[in-house]
Amino acid sequence: MIRPLQNSLFRWGLIIASVVLTIILVIPGFGKDLLRGDQFMPHATCYLRNPRVIFLHVSADLLIGFAYVCISATLGYLVYKARRDIPFHWMFLAFGLFIITCGFTHFMEVWTVWQPVYWLSGFVKVICAAASVATALALFPLVPKVFDLINSVKVSEERRVKLENANTELEAFAYSVSHDLRAPLRAVQGLTGALREDYGKQFDPQAINYMDQITSASQRMDTMIRDLLAYSKITRTIPELHTVDLHRAIQDARTMIEADVAQCKADVQIENELPNVIANPLLLSQALANLLSNAIKFVTPGVTPVVKVFAKDGGRHVRVCVQDNGIGIAAEYRDKIFGMFERLHSVTDYPGTGIGLAIVQKAVFRMDGALGFESTIGKGSCFWIDLPKA
Ligand code: ADP
Repeated sequence: MIRPLQNSLFRWGLIIASVVLTIILVIPGFGKDLLRGDQFMPHATCYLRNPRVIFLHVSADLLIGFAYVCISATLGYLVYKARRDIPFHWMFLAFGLFIITCGFTHFMEVWTVWQPVYWLSGFVKVICAAASVATALALFPLVPKVFDLINSVKVSEERRVKLENANTELEAFAYSVSHDLRAPLRAVQGLTGALREDYGKQFDPQAINYMDQITSASQRMDTMIRDLLAYSKITRTIPELHTVDLHRAIQDARTMIEADVAQCKADVQIENELPNVIANPLLLSQALANLLSNAIKFVTPGVTPVVKVFAKDGGRHVRVCVQDNGIGIAAEYRDKIFGMFERLHSVTDYPGTGIGLAIVQKAVFRMDGALGFESTIGKGSCFWIDLPKA
């Protein structure tokens, strides 16, 4: 059942209106008198047929009537479009009904200036009265519910602020922990190096194996701390956005991963003609460097990585694409890979921390951009970033 009808007071209002309507139509004499005007004088007579008074009343009544119809239509459209989001939307419909019936009473005022259809005019007023009384009755019990709603909005706003503060504190905590972990880690790395240098010759193969494991574990921890710091740095600062030369940003990104490109002899092809975008140069280069790094890393062993970087015109935005010939990503991992520490492979197969794409996502969102990818297992992936056109 539609919501206004579920409200008992409103329902009773409609029932009363229907009863009145039925009585008027059924009782002999009532119905047939509706359009009869021969017993009365038209309203114009009261105005002494003065054209200026008639014009004044008629134009005012017409304007009021049309305005009421427009208001009702707007309310109806609003409720139709946003009924899920507007609380007590049935009340808007009730208002709409009440307003439109008011509008018709004004149209009747115009009609009766020349045609004395006072029975019909009175009947329209009865319908308007029923709609008004029903709306007034339905409105009253709504008051405490509206107060409850206002309170709950206040509470959720307070919760939002608390959550935001807790998030900021958590980010600050993650930053300081990552930062503070670096010193003891440096000590572990330094002392392991000293141990190897000074006493390495006295170690048996088993001890050397342990030393190697300590070294690689501490290196991995170092990379994770560096990535965590890079992530929290993005969340802690408000980036300045301005016009950025996309070609320059991609070149900078490539320079950041130059050692990896050389090591795996990757073929990185960058399109020559690239447009300017609105972005933060540091964040953009960092995001692109992470995408490039993944593109040359996740290939089948023995395959030379071929990476193409190009841009597409997307109307109001530019789509920057990083396409590889890698192992591809299965569709079920579409959302997972952007999460912190989410990896699809073991560290022995492909090294990494699982923070790279989380950094890309955060950086892109901070630049008011969008991010996504298309991929085919065994053929490759194409990661894209949408940024506003400069
Ligand atoms: P990391 O590269 O450190 O593993 P990321 O957050 O950058 O972490 O990536 C998360 C996971 O998404 C990767 O472990 C990998 O499984 C997958 N992935 C990311 N980029 C690609 C790519 N270009 N091709 C195939 N898989 C990818």
